[in-house]
Amino acid sequence: MPQFDLIVIGGGSGGVRAARIAASHGARVALVEEYRMGGTCVIRGCVPKKLMVYASRFAQEFEEAAGYGWTLGNTQFDWAHLKTRRDAEVTRLEGIYRSNLQASGVQIFDDRAALVDPHTVALASGGQLQGAHLLIATGARPTPATAFPGHELTIDSNGFFDLQSLPRRVVVQGAGYIALELACVLQRLGAQVRVLVRGAQILRGFDADVVTHLTTELAHSGLQFHFGHNITAIHRMPSGLRVEHDQGEPFEADCVLRAVGRTPNTQGLGLDTLGIAVDEHGAIPVDAFSQTVVRGVYAVGDVTNRVNLTPMAIREGHAFADTVFGGTPRSVDHHLVPTAVFTTPEVGVVGLTEAQALAAHPHLDVYRASFRPMKATLSGHTGKMLLKLLVDRDTDRVLGFHAVGPDTGEMAQLVGITLQLQATKAAFDATLAVHPTAAEELVTMRTPTVRHNL
Ligand code: FAD
Ligand code: NDP
Repeated sequence: MPQFDLIVIGGGSGGVRAARIAASHGARVALVEEYRMGGTCVIRGCVPKKLMVYASRFAQEFEEAAGYGWTLGNTQFDWAHLKTRRDAEVTRLEGIYRSNLQASGVQIFDDRAALVDPHTVALASGGQLQGAHLLIATGARPTPATAFPGHELTIDSNGFFDLQSLPRRVVVQGAGYIALELACVLQRLGAQVRVLVRGAQILRGFDADVVTHLTTELAHSGLQFHFGHNITAIHRMPSGLRVEHDQGEPFEADCVLRAVGRTPNTQGLGLDTLGIAVDEHGAIPVDAFSQTVVRGVYAVGDVTNRVNLTPMAIREGHAFADTVFGGTPRSVDHHLVPTAVFTTPEVGVVGLTEAQALAAHPHLDVYRASFRPMKATLSGHTGKMLLKLLVDRDTDRVLGFHAVGPDTGEMAQLVGITLQLQATKAAFDATLAVHPTAAEELVTMRTPTVRHNL
């Protein structure tokens, strides 16, 4: 039976990073991947999604060009062409992930793995591997919809990437990251898109101003929101799908996209045999060093349902490898997570929301600017941008940054560094503006719009 220092299950963001770093520390590493190397992010998540987002944003650029003196010919969009090129890029990246692992000395098994005991992994095709340490990095999958008749007629984000053509009429179920990003892509490529939201708001957990601003902008750009709507049944009709819901007249659609969260991939892994109980979400509980209740068995990434983002899976995998094989114990800070929602307009965020900040820092100043970006003056685009900073009056520290508008994801990355450095508002004020930019508002907002508890 092959012997390793580490067996990694899952070749996604977390598993690949852990395997490569462990190997660089001298460990003999095996990695088992049942589908395609690179995992969700590379194969059917961040990367192909962002390429679709880029594709979808040209339509507005074409419209805006007229105000700047351009006359464009007849513009047309070819879904099949984009899909072919996108899929080729994904395959290229998959190859790079595989060759990087091989170059690091990691032995790859294209197989499905299950746990047998704390040092043994069984491969679905037969045979077993033995390892001193095991790392579970099996990610998550779209949560299935089973609550209504016809649920099998829906597609999820995986199905989105398989679509052979642009559906004309789409119903999206859910109002989180995936629902909104993919709704925007489809709508901006030309589909009529309805978003069915079970509650009263989109992007639960985000700052209230971001939610309000984004809802207004998306509705203005043509996305149709239906709040307090739950799908009750879907029927296939000659003219397409009839989507019944609990609020009245059914909707007609060619495609129903389900984006109601993701479920950790823990089923069938053999966790029971090791005595590892999953939590109420099906995730694997771990300590600050990503170790499970079983000594020597670790888990990182979405399967642990801590912060389900690629950079976090990568960081957890890296920290695990440094801790166990590099002699430098490192835990991961799950606070202060910069993030972007790639809707159009996009959202960029880092730090506390106003509600969170207020709960811990009652003397809170809010600086908020809502304005038309300069580009819109000639293009005629009516969309507004939102920039918001939260400042603790007691310490002058900036606690949160929230933005909606072009390139705010890029801004969140940079503002994130300043928050990591515990920057004060005085430091923002002392920073010279880059003019003319939208981001200069961040260093020129002098007067708070709200002063809590003054
Ligand atoms: P994964 O990348 O999911 O990798 C797990 C791997 O394990 C998979 O390859 C799977 O096939 C394999 N596997 C599972 N079970 C077994 C088994 N028993 N044996 C062998 N192999 C197994 N995050 C961002 O930060 N930015 C984004 O823009 C972003 N966009 C996203 C868009 C979409 C549509 C989706 C779905 C997700 C997006 N995410 C984004 C989230 C991001 O993709 C995940 O947080 C990240 O991929 C988690 O990495 P992971 O290593 O934990 O799991
Ligand atoms: P989210 O948790 O972000 O959103 C789930 C949405 O589905 C919520 O609006 C939720 O509503 C709704 N919902 C849940 N159950 C039901 C139901 N039974 N009926 C109707 N609506 C329901 O999950 P996603 O799947 O969008 O994304 C998963 C994770 O992947 C994200 O949280 C993020 O960590 C990551 N991701 C990151 C991206 C990025 O960085 N840009 C992009 C895509 C994904 P409610 O608010 O009422 O609970």
